[in-house]
Amino acid sequence: MKIVEQKEYEFWPDKIADGLIRDWKAKKQVINTGTSMSGEPHIGSANDVIRGDAIRLALQEKVPAELIWISDNLDPFRSVPADMPKELEDYLGMPASSIPDFWKCHKSFTEHFESKFIEQLKSVFVNPTVMLGSEMYKKGMYNDVIKIAMQKKDEIAEILNQFREHKLSDDWYPVDIICEKCKKISTTRIFAYDPKTAKAKYVCRKDEIILHRKNPVAGCGHEGEVSILDGNSKLTWRVEWAARWVFLESTCEPFGKEHAAAGGSWDTGKEIAEKIFNYKPPYPVEYEHFLVNGEKMSKSKGNVITVPDMLKFMTPAMLRYWMFQGRLTIAKNIVIEKLVPNLFDEFNRAEEVYFHPEKFDKKEQTNLARAYQLSVINPEKEGMHVEFDMLKGLVSVAPEGKELEFVANELEKKDLKIVDDLEEKVKLVKNYIQSFEKKAAVEFSDKEREALKEFAVKLAEVKTEDDVQNVLKEAANDTGLSTREMFKAIYKALFSKETGPRLGQYVMQVGMKETINKLNQSTDTN
Ligand SMILES: [Zn+2]
Ligand SMILES: [Zn+2]
Repeated sequence: MKIVEQKEYEFWPDKIADGLIRDWKAKKQVINTGTSMSGEPHIGSANDVIRGDAIRLALQEKVPAELIWISDNLDPFRSVPADMPKELEDYLGMPASSIPDFWKCHKSFTEHFESKFIEQLKSVFVNPTVMLGSEMYKKGMYNDVIKIAMQKKDEIAEILNQFREHKLSDDWYPVDIICEKCKKISTTRIFAYDPKTAKAKYVCRKDEIILHRKNPVAGCGHEGEVSILDGNSKLTWRVEWAARWVFLESTCEPFGKEHAAAGGSWDTGKEIAEKIFNYKPPYPVEYEHFLVNGEKMSKSKGNVITVPDMLKFMTPAMLRYWMFQGRLTIAKNIVIEKLVPNLFDEFNRAEEVYFHPEKFDKKEQTNLARAYQLSVINPEKEGMHVEFDMLKGLVSVAPEGKELEFVANELEKKDLKIVDDLEEKVKLVKNYIQSFEKKAAVEFSDKEREALKEFAVKLAEVKTEDDVQNVLKEAANDTGLSTREMFKAIYKALFSKETGPRLGQYVMQVGMKETINKLNQSTDTN
């Protein structure tokens, strides 16, 4: 497909890729993402990685590019998520990676979630280079930048203090030691450092320190001396962020808007990168977080949505498409019930534009088709373009367990060519109906009930569509219903609504036995 180049319509991953190639003349473009792994990963945790993948793809058409995801598992564990065992309180203040796996299926608490997260990314075709914070430190990847940061600690403090109400004191150090005795990291304080040996003397403070959400944690009182290298210490977040750009040679960093606030970690990070490490800060890609029904996602509110939650109702490519569409600085509001029908239809349209660009204007060619292309990754074959509402209508009246057959048959009658992806779409639409479309409770009058019973009995002998019409009329006559009333009663019994597909055809397709069962079930229970 040819996309006419027209800058004003440039799709954001292309705009970023072009900017990177123009201004960050690196041998390889490195997109850096990271997540603190202290609980069940949700769709928001995947935001920068999935969107980062669009940038990687756009870059890779022109230059080598890599997407990195770092599990910030050495971050101190600050609060027990609402949905987790209370025993986890014992681990507050420790690096999250040193908590055991409470579910006993992985080596650690963080690995439990890391592995889930990586699986979830894979399920939407995202395969970043995975790095674990704990391993990066242990392997010494941070050693050089730690030494530089320790040497220039006063300059770093000066940068950070520009934005701090409570200034960092002269005895502040940019690393935190992990206490050798109690394993806590939030409680230790360095009081002497020897740059020649890279060893620090520290105390694990016994006085209470307030962590996130007023969680107090106290140290064990241990005093020790230890090398700050090879995983014994961790840089504080704001310094760490800039420091890892240096040795990962990052050129692009997507981050949530809270980091972008004035004096936030982006402001200090870029200054630390430039002044302390003499490194050109990566291309910043700021994005808004997702909302759920207009609210911030939070475990305590119980409104957390995960990638698998979304994939119940949409294909992986559709989920990617949804994430790639629109401006990054707009908060996408997840209301699945509304989002899914629109997404199905827009995705169909984008696919149409991609495969038949000549039918559409340039703006659509660029935006829709490009988002589609980066969502599907090497699209080869057009899927079936059936409007969501039509699909929903068909699936909702299809006999249980035979939805695909029924829908395909109905669509063929409309002269539509059946494509393989119909199966997946039918499954997704069925999930949607089960989750969001409550069947209206139906009530029958005595007459209706009698008529339906007679109709069901007579149906057993029926051979043709015409026969269906005939027994329907007979049952109506015998019980004093009009033909119209009879149809209504049958539709209510079969589909819980007063209208439906052409009855003769439907009955022939579904079969007598199935129809009779459904009729009897409905009159027995309502
Ligand atoms: Zn596990
Ligand atoms: Zn301690």
